[in-house]
Amino acid sequence: MGSEKTRQEWRRAVQQSLLPSGVKLTLTKHSESGHGQYHDDAMNEHAIKRDRLAKLCGVFESTVRRQMRRAENAGWLKLHRYGFNGQQQVYHYVTPSSPSTCTDCRTDPRRKGAGKEA
Ligand SMILES: [Zn+2]
Repeated sequence: MGSEKTRQEWRRAVQQSLLPSGVKLTLTKHSESGHGQYHDDAMNEHAIKRDRLAKLCGVFESTVRRQMRRAENAGWLKLHRYGFNGQQQVYHYVTPSSPSTCTDCRTDPRRKGAGKEA
């Protein structure tokens, strides 16, 4: 409890990390407030349209996708919700030293309450 980093602290930690500079830029832009960006700091849930993020970073969407996956694998992002029906993917901002405490990640709303089998 209370180990979740604030957005500001998370961004500073990202800057001080050993992530490639392109990934740092993508994460920094992702965490800014602006049009088309969603931040619920209390829940630590964050989303932005990928095409918008690509434009902000001046790279292709495929590059953004690769960088987000790299950040996730390195422990700097945790996928909370897949993007359904045109919705954006929602991420938790985490650090390798303080992983997310969320117990509701990657829940498919269409299958909620179902799928207790095996
Ligand atoms: Zn979650």
